[in-house]
Amino acid sequence: MTPQEAADMLTEHIKAVQAGDPEAIRVDKEATAILRARDEERARRERQIARLTGIAVELDDAALGLLSTFAESLHASPGTTRDLTSKGLAAAQHDRDRGVVREPVPRDHASEMRGAIMAEIAAERDRQIAKWGDGVPSGGFGWTSLTDRNRMLEAKRACEDRAKRGCCTLRDVLEEEVCEVFAERPGSQLQRAELLQVAAVCVKWVEAIDARTVPRG
Ligand SMILES: [Mg+2]
Repeated sequence: MTPQEAADMLTEHIKAVQAGDPEAIRVDKEATAILRARDEERARRERQIARLTGIAVELDDAALGLLSTFAESLHASPGTTRDLTSKGLAAAQHDRDRGVVREPVPRDHASEMRGAIMAEIAAERDRQIAKWGDGVPSGGFGWTSLTDRNRMLEAKRACEDRAKRGCCTLRDVLEEEVCEVFAERPGSQLQRAELLQVAAVCVKWVEAIDARTVPRG
C-alpha cells in the first residue's frame, strides 16, 4: 500500500465514523483501546527502566544500553566474575557500541534469585523511609567498647569451635559478623566492611530459606 492509498483509506474511515457506520465505529474503538494500552505500557516501562537506571528523569538510548549491560552482567555464569562496577559496565557498554559481540552468557538461576532478594531489600528500605524518614537516629552510629571487643572474640571462638565440630549454624556466623560490626570504630570504613558482611550473611540466610535445603528448627 502506498502512503497515498493509506491516507485515502484513513480519510474514508474517518468519514464512515462521522456518518455513524457501526462497523467503522467498532473498529475505531478497538484501535483506540489498543493504542491507549500501548501508550500506557510504554509509559510504565519507561518509568520502571528510568527507576532502575537511577536516572529517573527521562529515558534515553544511553540509559537503555546501560541497563542492558547491567542485566547481562547479572547473568554471568557461576564461578566467573561479575564486574558490576561502573568502570566494568562502561567498558561493556563501549564494546556494545562498537559492535563487539561477547559470548552469550548462560542464565544463572542463583543470580536471578539473588537479584529478586535485593529488590525485596530495596522495597523494605523504601518502607523504612516511608515510616521513619531517611535520617540517622539522633544518637548517630552509637559506640564501641572493650565489652564489644570481648564479645566479638568470644563469638569468633564459638563459631570456629562449632565449625571444627561440624555443627556451625547460620546463627553462629551472623552473630560473629554482628559482633565484629559492634567491635569496629563507629562510622569507620572497617565497620562499613563488616556491615556489608552482615548484609551478605543475611542474604545467604534468605537464600537458604527460599531454597528449602536446610531443615527447619
Ligand atoms: Mg567479618
